[in-house]
Amino acid sequence: MFRWLFLNERALAPAEHAVWKLSALRIILVSGFLLEAIVAIDSSIDAWRVGAYQVLWIVAFFYVVLSAGLYYSARNLHTGAAILLATVYAAAFSIYSFIDQFSIAKLGIIFIYTAPIIARLFFGTRLALLLMAVNFLPFGMLLLNRPLVSFPGINMTLQGAHAYIQSLLFLFFNVCIPLAVFRVLHTLDKSVSQIQLASKELEVSHGQYQEIFQNAGSALLLTDAGGKILQSNHLADSLLGRDSNTDKETVLFEWISLDNSVRLKVGGADESANMRMSAYRTRDGKMVALENISQTSNDHYIVALRDVSGLHSMHHALQLSLEREDYLSSHDPLTDLPNRDMLRQHLQGVLSNPHHGKVTALVSFRLNSIRHANQQFGAHTGDILLRRFAEDLKRALPPNCFCARLRSIVFSFVLDHSRTPGEIITLVEKIRHALPKEMEIEGATLMVQFSAGIALIRAEDKEPDDLIRRSEMALDTARRSSDQTVTLFDEEDAQQIRRSVEVEVGIVNGLKLKEFRLLYQPKVRHDGSIAGIEALLRWKSATLGNVPPAEFIPIAERAGLIRHISNYVLDQACAQIREWLDKFGSCPVVAVNLSASDITRNDLIQLIETSCQRYQVAPSYLEFEITETGLIANENLSIQHLDALKARGFGIAIDDFGTGYSSLSKLSHFPAQSVKIDRSFVAQIGYNRKSEMIIKAIVSLANILLCTTVAEGVENESQEMFLKEVGCDFFQGYLYYRPLEVEALDDLFAQNDSPMQDAGAFASSATL
Ligand code: C2E
Ligand code: MG
Ligand code: MG
Repeated sequence: MFRWLFLNERALAPAEHAVWKLSALRIILVSGFLLEAIVAIDSSIDAWRVGAYQVLWIVAFFYVVLSAGLYYSARNLHTGAAILLATVYAAAFSIYSFIDQFSIAKLGIIFIYTAPIIARLFFGTRLALLLMAVNFLPFGMLLLNRPLVSFPGINMTLQGAHAYIQSLLFLFFNVCIPLAVFRVLHTLDKSVSQIQLASKELEVSHGQYQEIFQNAGSALLLTDAGGKILQSNHLADSLLGRDSNTDKETVLFEWISLDNSVRLKVGGADESANMRMSAYRTRDGKMVALENISQTSNDHYIVALRDVSGLHSMHHALQLSLEREDYLSSHDPLTDLPNRDMLRQHLQGVLSNPHHGKVTALVSFRLNSIRHANQQFGAHTGDILLRRFAEDLKRALPPNCFCARLRSIVFSFVLDHSRTPGEIITLVEKIRHALPKEMEIEGATLMVQFSAGIALIRAEDKEPDDLIRRSEMALDTARRSSDQTVTLFDEEDAQQIRRSVEVEVGIVNGLKLKEFRLLYQPKVRHDGSIAGIEALLRWKSATLGNVPPAEFIPIAERAGLIRHISNYVLDQACAQIREWLDKFGSCPVVAVNLSASDITRNDLIQLIETSCQRYQVAPSYLEFEITETGLIANENLSIQHLDALKARGFGIAIDDFGTGYSSLSKLSHFPAQSVKIDRSFVAQIGYNRKSEMIIKAIVSLANILLCTTVAEGVENESQEMFLKEVGCDFFQGYLYYRPLEVEALDDLFAQNDSPMQDAGAFASSATL
């Protein structure tokens, strides 16, 4: 019952206003219903006695209406309240209109003075004010002391009417309304104490929150969605350099610069454990990271700031050291120039993207005078000299020219925009002239002497290392061919280098344009008959004219072009043998000269066999001449290959024998069937006893080793006589034949009395 009356008393939450309103309504209705029942019953009995039955109807009507009010109060507050208001007005109207005694009747009108309070309680101020205004009408009537309307025949004035009306007024104003107001006030009191309690709790929790916020151990900010700082703790203020008392209403991004944010990597070596964060610079130069940005329910943000200045400088230092490490892996620390690896990479790029129509060259400068600087003034001065030389060289080079420190005292650069080798040489000379001849270092005057080597980059070049090797070889040649005590790169060297570069380029083009041809110089027996012929290469270059093999063969060897020349010579020689065999049915042994690098070629045997097969030439028609020095260069592999050739039936001769540094006894190591005595000894016959002795020794040794001997460069009869006397087997020289064109040999072979013998006949003896 009480629960139904008082309902649930809890906080004054807006949703629960209806609860206490309903409770107040029910209190008014129930108390009115019960208390006024006594008056109603008594007055009804009275009315029954006097026969005023209309009073019974009216009382019954009010009870029905009140019951309806009670019924609706359980369902709908406003319907219940409206019924109450209507009841109040209806009661006042009934009393005012139906009671004859005006002095009593006008008391009933007082009921309606409660209407504004009831309206305010349940409907709000507007209706309350309206009813206050409406109530002016009955008030005015009372002032005028005039009854409202009179309904004749409905006289309800009972004997106890005055007591009944007074009782109703008493009950309504002294019980019903006060109880309802008590109810409301009680609720208000409770609400106030609850609010006080809640605000106390709020104060405590705010204090705690402040304490936590200020002493959280990290810099915290509370911002709105636009970044406005609503609250900040001391750490955050000191980190941002901000005073929260004066710098109110400021936005976070006024304090940190977003423009030069830095990405930091935090974590260990394990990449997966790494975390990346952005760091921003504050006004006073600290670096902060924004961490743990969490959104609150009312669209505010809690931002944790972290001072990452230390981390940033560590990160920066680490970055610098990594960059340095990376730099040092590709650069020389002394001169800051790219190192050999970088040069190789650069050359790789150059080789894969050739500049068409342009001549590209790798040029190396060797600072020869460094040794003197080191010895005289110490390594420190040597280092300065190197550094200064590198700086001067860099300045002297064309813009964007790639320059590297190839090794300790060798600097290399790539020239890639010249049209002819000549232009390259001119450019190198210009660079050479731009470099100082001497330098003042710590009070001492140091000579700057260097040599230069040029390697031209050719279309078929693929390997940077080959190119570097060639440039070093050119450098070596330049260095050795000049006077070390003065400036090295003199005009003569330049000429020589220019010539060798031109020859190098010429060979490549000459092979393409078939500028090479073979001459054949016969070797004769004692009776003058031809025992064999030596193929000797001739080159008539379109640009350089006649170039002797003594010049172009060494250049081709250094430039790695000899293999192409040998392929050509072998092919031509085999073709020629085939032609003679077809023409004359016979052919003497043809000797082909091989270079040291040919002899160590892995594909040598295969190459020779392929040429022989192509032209159907038996091995006995071919002999290979290899110089003694060429054999010594890579003795084991050379011997292995010569053994293989010999086993296949090819002839082997050691050319220019006696000029090498090896002792004569070395001859026994080589699988040769023939030894060619160098023409420098032959030329000395009659003048130099020592040379004659050497010739004798070579011949005797060759006899012991069952080798035949050939004397080269026999030019006169006295030489021939001496050679015949000492037992030399064959002779070659201008005394008999100069190197001959094919046509001249054709004529020679065509003469019937020609002393020619087919090499096939000698195949079994494997000699000339
Ligand atoms: P070599 O193999 O010792 O050839 C003999 C050289 O002596 C030839 O010079 C020849 O013309 C020259 N000669 C012959 N008889 C006389 C003479 O009575 N007096 C003088 N003063 N010289 C004479 P050439 O043709 O200029 O060849 C020079 C060198 O070039 C050759 O020396 C050989 O080592 C090399 N060579 C020539 N052709 C080839 C070739 O096809 N391949 C290779 N790898 N080297 C070759
Ligand atoms: Mg020879
Ligand atoms: Mg020779």
